[in-house]
Amino acid sequence: MSKLLIVGSVAFDAIETPFGKTDKILGGAAPYIALSASQFDIESAIVSVIGDDFPEAYLEMLRKHKVDTTAIERIPGGKTFFWKGKYHNDLNSRDTLETQLNVLADFNPKVPDAYKEVEIVMLGNLHPAVQLDVLNQLNKKPKLAALDTMNFWMDNALEDLKKVIARVDIITINDEEARQLSGEYSLVKAARAIEAMGPKYVVIKKGEHGALLFHEGQIFFAPALPLEEVFDPTGAGDTFAGGFTGYLTKTNDISFDNMKKAIIHASNLASFCVEKFGTERMQELTKKEVQQRLQQFKELTQFEIELT
Ligand code: AMP
Repeated sequence: MSKLLIVGSVAFDAIETPFGKTDKILGGAAPYIALSASQFDIESAIVSVIGDDFPEAYLEMLRKHKVDTTAIERIPGGKTFFWKGKYHNDLNSRDTLETQLNVLADFNPKVPDAYKEVEIVMLGNLHPAVQLDVLNQLNKKPKLAALDTMNFWMDNALEDLKKVIARVDIITINDEEARQLSGEYSLVKAARAIEAMGPKYVVIKKGEHGALLFHEGQIFFAPALPLEEVFDPTGAGDTFAGGFTGYLTKTNDISFDNMKKAIIHASNLASFCVEKFGTERMQELTKKEVQQRLQQFKELTQFEIELT
């Protein structure tokens, strides 16, 4: 069976949306990616770091979803990464109020031996030097290395970020970040500029407006499912990334056509994530719910039209 190696922050998040506020809850890129990818019944492992303050019950929950947590290093006396964010009324944009790197600041990742020849690697959001270190520990080039990042690292570690971008096959990034990274307003030009930095495929996520896949002049678009309830968008991008790489791992096919299917699965899974605070909805999500919504997705996007 193909395996997925996941790298990314494991965090405490404090979130404020127009509908409510949380204290420190489970967050971070890696748990969202792993929970989403777990829908495809693949083997996965997270490489990350936590402090003494991180509850064992969260790790147990991940293990229940068949995620290998042995490479999540616990630092004695350390504090877990903390992020605090507040969403604007339209829920499409947010302000980061606080980022405490804590144990993430000088983390030395260790890839488990069983994952050193892994087929697919999802380098989720965390310090680009850590993402690069993980790639360097692999015994052979993976079939596909995917990268997700955010403006924080563009502002604080751009040189390292450029190095890791040059090494990956695909990058998933939101529209605002694609503009910041490329200096281009047009997303078509931004994608072209990012392709020139290394990745052959560029996915630009546009929140409730869907996602675009760019590859050598070809473009594919998948809308986001219009939802009645959007409660907390935190982690939607990571859930998307987990769905995308989880599907590619399961099918073991990285052709452009299969990536189109992966984007639909990714958008479908991300639509669940936003319905409750934090990872709550993804923890309880069933295969039946996923299938039903996939059907809705199909109906939403299929049309017959005569091209004359
Ligand atoms: P998303 O909403 O998909 O962009 O991801 C939100 C998650 O990213 C939250 O759970 C945060 O803990 C995590 N996060 C926020 N800032 C950073 C950062 N600078 N590095 C790594 N993870 C972060």
